Amino acid sequence: MITILMPVYNEGDFIYNNVMTVDNLLEREGIEHQFLLVDDGSRDKSWAELCRLADDHEQVSIIRLSRNFGKEAALCAGLENADGDAVLVMDSDLQHPPELIPEMVRLWRDEGYDVVEGVKEDRGRESLPTKLAALLFYRTFSRTTGIDIGVASDFKLMDRSAVEAWKQLPEKNTFFRGLSAWVGYKRYALPFKVSPRVGGQTKWSMRSLSRLAVNSITAYTAAPLFIIFWLGLLMGIGAIIMTVQTLYIYFAHRADPGFSTVILLQLFIGSAIMISLSIIGLYIAKIYDEVKARPRYLIQSKRGKALK
Ligand code: UDP
Ligand code: MG
Repeated sequence: MITILMPVYNEGDFIYNNVMTVDNLLEREGIEHQFLLVDDGSRDKSWAELCRLADDHEQVSIIRLSRNFGKEAALCAGLENADGDAVLVMDSDLQHPPELIPEMVRLWRDEGYDVVEGVKEDRGRESLPTKLAALLFYRTFSRTTGIDIGVASDFKLMDRSAVEAWKQLPEKNTFFRGLSAWVGYKRYALPFKVSPRVGGQTKWSMRSLSRLAVNSITAYTAAPLFIIFWLGLLMGIGAIIMTVQTLYIYFAHRADPGFSTVILLQLFIGSAIMISLSIIGLYIAKIYDEVKARPRYLIQSKRGKALK
């Protein structure tokens, strides 16, 4: 039995049909499945549609979070409550092509892969700034953490063992793509093309995306602290060169007032200190978040039999 896990946030009318599309496809392919839909505090009629789905189809289970906690938290809620032998995570707007599911299931069932992940062949229709920002983020992430999530997506099939391993990670700030790569296991990367969205609009603003980027990098690594270290070292070398030059000028009796040098140095050192402080602050904020040990999400209601 495999659980199809979808986060849902303000998907409106489309959600019913989207789920049925996937259901019909899996039915035709003879893949034993159930659905777990997590409503991430939608403010439109999504929850009513989910209830309708659960009423009409016994293979559909639904969870409603008490407010909008974000996609990452919705995925956590889903993974912690799903009870299938494997869990397949996909977007509810069908941007992750359902036609690929049979192949993913085959790789898991017949070839023994624990994690089958969809990797984006192209990123679909996105504006140039979004593309650039994504590229910058993935580069920074893989350079600093050593985990290559390059073209990874949240379109993923995970065996029960990988899900259990993932569930043991205690942190509150999660980044599904990163964490599911961190657990390792026998993996297979399956390329796919991002389809256009089936109705509705994207829920991500530049702001929420940058927050996700900063969160996911600081949640993984202290590498930014090392960048500051190297920066400091570089400035140290610069200072030595400047000292030699200043001394030379002094002894050559061509002593320069050198105000500009002093000011430049002041600026450099000042900014270096500011940057380091802000980065340290970032990590302290992280520690603060983790020690608060708040739950990642709150479940308002749930029903269905695919639940733990
Ligand atoms: N989503 C969510 N909570 C949010 C934002 C998005 O659960 O706060 C879900 C949304 O319902 C969809 C998936 O995350 O299933 C991807 O969202 P979207 O399609 O808006 O993002 P995009 O495809 O543009 O990256
Ligand atoms: Mg989408």
